[in-house]
Amino acid sequence: MKIDVSSIVGDKAASVDFDFQVERLPLVFPFAVSGFAEPIRVSGDVTNTGKYLLVQGRIETGLEVQCDRCLRTFEYPVDLEFSAEYKKRSGQDDPLRLFDDEDQVYGYEGTTLDLTQVVEDELAVGMPIKMLCDEECKGLCPRCGHNRNESECDCRDEEVDPRLEALRSLLASKD
Ligand SMILES: [Zn+2]
Ligand SMILES: [Zn+2]
Repeated sequence: MKIDVSSIVGDKAASVDFDFQVERLPLVFPFAVSGFAEPIRVSGDVTNTGKYLLVQGRIETGLEVQCDRCLRTFEYPVDLEFSAEYKKRSGQDDPLRLFDDEDQVYGYEGTTLDLTQVVEDELAVGMPIKMLCDEECKGLCPRCGHNRNESECDCRDEEVDPRLEALRSLLASKD
């Protein structure tokens, strides 16, 4: 995802469009992902503000994820808007690395701006911690593993207090 910014670096207020499509990115998510269900599309523009290059873009894809409650696999649609500042850096530093962690400023070298890092960062922070197929997902029965979205099982769902359980078995042994 490299953008040639040679046409705008010396020209304040100039901008250049981009539109990329990649099949996958090596990302680690906090939930179970079996892969990208759709290609990752990254589109937007880069504007020379005079101080830095401002990237404003959009990330669209679909993730194949597993529901945290019922373990069903489903496609989670991703549509994120983002903006990031890029400043020119020099030397032998890795141009992909964050320039400044706090302000989300990235570095670019020469006349090439690489979006890979910002896209990976945005995808990482833009995702929920838990994946649910539905907010109302009833999940699996903790006793028999039956999917409660399909039907109710015969298990009693009462939470048994361990102290009550001890008392109960004590009473039962009296019979
Ligand atoms: Zn579910
Ligand atoms: Zn059950």
